[in-house]
Amino acid sequence: MMMPSTKLLKLKSTTSNATKNIPSTTTTTTTATITTTATTTTTTTTSTTNASQYYKNKTLILDLDETLVHSVRLGSEASINTKVNASVIRKNIEVQCDKQNLIYEVYKRPHVDFFLKTISQWYKVVIYTASMAEYADPVIDWLDQDNLISQRFFRQSCVLKNGNFLKDLTLAEQDLCKVCLVDNSPIAFDLYKENGIALPTWISNPNDESLLDLLPFLDALRFAADVRSILRLQHKLK
Ligand SMILES: [Mg+2]
Repeated sequence: MMMPSTKLLKLKSTTSNATKNIPSTTTTTTTATITTTATTTTTTTTSTTNASQYYKNKTLILDLDETLVHSVRLGSEASINTKVNASVIRKNIEVQCDKQNLIYEVYKRPHVDFFLKTISQWYKVVIYTASMAEYADPVIDWLDQDNLISQRFFRQSCVLKNGNFLKDLTLAEQDLCKVCLVDNSPIAFDLYKENGIALPTWISNPNDESLLDLLPFLDALRFAADVRSILRLQHKLK
């Protein structure tokens, strides 16, 4: 919100100076005040248009596993060893894979619902996962009951390199000025390092606040003409 409020402050200042220059006769003052008001209205409209050039036209791509959720297949060794605090929201999701019905217990990262609701007001939100669609699709359905997510990309959309699944961000947005990827695996944004935002891996910590912590940064980033100019700085600082 920094940008619009700064511009409004400048506008108020201009209006005030114009009014001070008005001659002191009553008739002239009235006319000048009307003119000034009309100018202010026009300028305010232009200001909003300029801000919207940056605002709400960017795409935020989110990884799924260990970024927004963590899952274990029931009956697997991981499910026997994983003890997740009862406060963490979970759901058993049935997945059909190779003609088998598998049950996954899926845990929501703390604050994920608030995070999605908030960022969807700022960005076009896309999920891009290296997981198979058979598993990820029903998980995203559960996460996105308010239809906040615009697109989904799965493993078949990843680029396989040296055994790693890399993400081709241009599938979601051709213009690299306007797209970033939040992922717990930095290797995922190896093709477009300057567009990546690394998030700590989440497994089960019920007190994790990483998604909340990211919100102020994303709130500011949406106003950048080129997101890489900001994200480049975080890579240099590391
Ligand atoms: Mg991940």
